Amino acid sequence: MENKVTYQARQSGKIMLNANESGENLTAQMMDRVVEAIRNTAFNRYPENSQVKLREAYASVIGVNADQIIAGNGSDQLLGYLIGKLAGVDGTVYTFDPDFSMYDYYTSSYGSQIIKYPCDEDGSLDLDSFIRYGNDQNADLVIFSNPNNPSGHCLSIEEVEKVIQGFDGTPVIVDEAYIEFADEASAISLLDQYPQLYVTRTLSKAYGLAGMRVGFAIGQKQNMDALREGYVPYALSTPAMEIACAILSDPGAVQNRICEIKAQRQKMLEIMKQMKCLTVYDSQANFIYGRTEERDRLCAILDEEGIVIRLYGDGSTFRITVSTQQENSLLLQALQRFEGEGQ
Ligand code: PMP
Repeated sequence: MENKVTYQARQSGKIMLNANESGENLTAQMMDRVVEAIRNTAFNRYPENSQVKLREAYASVIGVNADQIIAGNGSDQLLGYLIGKLAGVDGTVYTFDPDFSMYDYYTSSYGSQIIKYPCDEDGSLDLDSFIRYGNDQNADLVIFSNPNNPSGHCLSIEEVEKVIQGFDGTPVIVDEAYIEFADEASAISLLDQYPQLYVTRTLSKAYGLAGMRVGFAIGQKQNMDALREGYVPYALSTPAMEIACAILSDPGAVQNRICEIKAQRQKMLEIMKQMKCLTVYDSQANFIYGRTEERDRLCAILDEEGIVIRLYGDGSTFRITVSTQQENSLLLQALQRFEGEGQ
């Protein structure tokens, strides 16, 4: 019991830069809208199963029709659903290495196999070779995050189109969890042309609603109608849908936060690139990916400062969320210490 209390106290005091969440909670105005939405919620009733209000709200933000969208309990739920439906049992799922680890999880849970194409450490890759290898392997489904988690690299819309064309009718899922932070355009404008294309989006990152679990899959109407057939009823709770609608009703407020994070990211990258003890890569997302040969020493310093970052199994790479100005400066101070003590 005593251990548990101490653990909780330490957890709440930590600076969590490991999960690419928004460092900032909702603004006071957003919170007022959320409270109002909750006040009008019929808690005694099951949720509205067609999700129509939420789908219409998101459709108007991204410029598609509401019947092209399915909403889920985070985009994670929809990624799992799409992988199951499009690759099925015994299918071959083709992705980048590295990419989002949940693709492996869902692929293996459906009994399919995953094949990965190794990218350079900055996330760049030879697209012709990626396409050739995937076709040689008879990929049943191509899936990748764009911007990539963890590298932060982002393919241009022309490159995404080249991948779609390169796989000639094979379904392609572009996971755009971080696209709001990118300078590149979304693949959503390609949906009219390519029935094999699916795009996933989330409110967990730029919209700061990770705790609400709201995400979307977007595709051509006939594909989405077919997917709706086997979809779980009541995937989202009424409060989650109402709160999402309240936040989506003011996209301008979210835009301010995105601009601030992009500015912070550039400032952090400039400073971190000067450091000799680590290497970092350009990013189009709300995180920075890098490597250091002295990761244990880095972790010891971050631990003392109460900062948690994401570490990868190779022993040297890491990913750090770009958070609030205050948390970012604390991180930079810890990194300066790492740099200073290393020389
Ligand atoms: N895709 C990528 C690339 C992610 O990094 C994440 C979350 N870490 C997700 C999808 C899932 O996000 P959510 O379920 O919160 O919508």
